[in-house]
Amino acid sequence: MDDLYSEPRRNGMLDPQNWDRFDELADEVLTKVIERLFDASTGPVWREPPADLIAKLDKPLPGAGQSQREIVGALLELLPYGVGNTHPRFFGWVHGAGSPGNLLAEIAAAGMNANCGGRNHIAIRVERQVIAWMRDLFGFPDTASGLVVSGTSMATIIAAKAARDAAIGASSRTDGVGDQRLVGYVSSEAHSCLDRAFDMLGLGTAALRKIPVNSAFEIDLDALRDQIAEDRAAGLTPFFLGGTAGTVNTAAIDDLKALSAVAQEEALWFHVDGAFGACIQFSDVHKSRLDGIEAADSLAFDFHKWLHVNYDAGCVLIRSEAAHRNSFAKRPDYLASEGLALAGGEPWPVDYGPELSRGFRALKVWAHFIEHGREKLGRSIAFNCELASYLADKVDAHPQLQRMAPVSLNICCFRAIRDDVSEDALDDFNRAIVARLQSEGTAAPSTTRIDGKLVIRVNITNHRTQHVDIDILIDAINDLLAEDQL
Ligand SMILES: *Cc1c(COP(=O)(O)O)cnc(C)c1O
Repeated sequence: MDDLYSEPRRNGMLDPQNWDRFDELADEVLTKVIERLFDASTGPVWREPPADLIAKLDKPLPGAGQSQREIVGALLELLPYGVGNTHPRFFGWVHGAGSPGNLLAEIAAAGMNANCGGRNHIAIRVERQVIAWMRDLFGFPDTASGLVVSGTSMATIIAAKAARDAAIGASSRTDGVGDQRLVGYVSSEAHSCLDRAFDMLGLGTAALRKIPVNSAFEIDLDALRDQIAEDRAAGLTPFFLGGTAGTVNTAAIDDLKALSAVAQEEALWFHVDGAFGACIQFSDVHKSRLDGIEAADSLAFDFHKWLHVNYDAGCVLIRSEAAHRNSFAKRPDYLASEGLALAGGEPWPVDYGPELSRGFRALKVWAHFIEHGREKLGRSIAFNCELASYLADKVDAHPQLQRMAPVSLNICCFRAIRDDVSEDALDDFNRAIVARLQSEGTAAPSTTRIDGKLVIRVNITNHRTQHVDIDILIDAINDLLAEDQL
């Protein structure tokens, strides 16, 4: 036995031929990546991937491999052509900026290559700790369960399935939804991931009622009650009510307290989509806006957006561990927990979601929270909200810009106006402004529609953004407005 363990290391087929050389090359990659992050605030926000680089990708699967030197070169060549979200003037959609600290955890996780479906190992404990922190942060009971998942889309599928199965009972898992006529409710501003969840769960997107919003883009509670009553009268079975904490268009926050009361009265599962908005729970300045979230039956949110954990990482929390487990647990013999050694470590994540093999996403989340702490993450969020207000003031003072929605948190929607053109032409004009800003690399807002009108949407979920970046955006828009023809 002793001899067996003290034998010199023998490399596997896929291990480096020369470990010292591998060490040097790894240092080189790390140095280049750190340089890139050091310079994250300089250069264009986005560059289109060059045609010759794309052409280089297009070759047959290699029969024989290349040297590690060549691989390093190939990797470094890709670095400048990301989506641009590491840059302080990336204002599109809702993207987190990530942070350099994530590199360390990603390296450690890559080195461990843990499979987090279950079993008895430290990665499972780390994930459980992350879930415990989030449970406490959001005021969920100690008995609540949860998972670190790929993002809010996956978190929503898991939450909606737990809700569906709680409504119909265990038979839904064997017999499907049959002729149960389940219906759910969200506002017309809710994210499309809820539609996708209803689609994938066999409920159909038509079963997800879109309730109109008020002038603050929050769900209209009277319209909600009316729709529920109408559906009951029509013999349907309302089961799910989804509130949004931070809509993607304008960061509006539904009245979660009121929604929770409606859910209680109507015996509905109360879900909150807090993809980015729930993260204001980290901010002492803003967290009171989430009052009511602690009463949710489930909560879906992202670590990779406003908290800047690297992609991808999101979270689902479910108040009733039993409902969660009953919706997903079922293991064949070869996956049985024997309660012993490596086959111990219950409860296993596989019993709380659709995936068996899962990476160690929780490590970067855990390390990120330890590195920065709740307070700093909260201050970064609050500062983004200040910047959105700063932008709104500039827009309001500008004769050729018109604000299109209240600034609830970190998103400002506006458009450029001209007297002499039709609505369609105005849409084209604003679309062109955004495309020019993006293609010139000055700033990357996105577009959306508010009341049917195409608007410039500036979302600030970026710990690198400063006042000067807002100034640069406005200057660049002014330059474009001064052009005769866009
Ligand atoms: C981004 C977003 C989602 C989807 O989250 P992913 O992490 O991209 O899957 C859902 N809801 C809202 C409000 C979002 O902003």
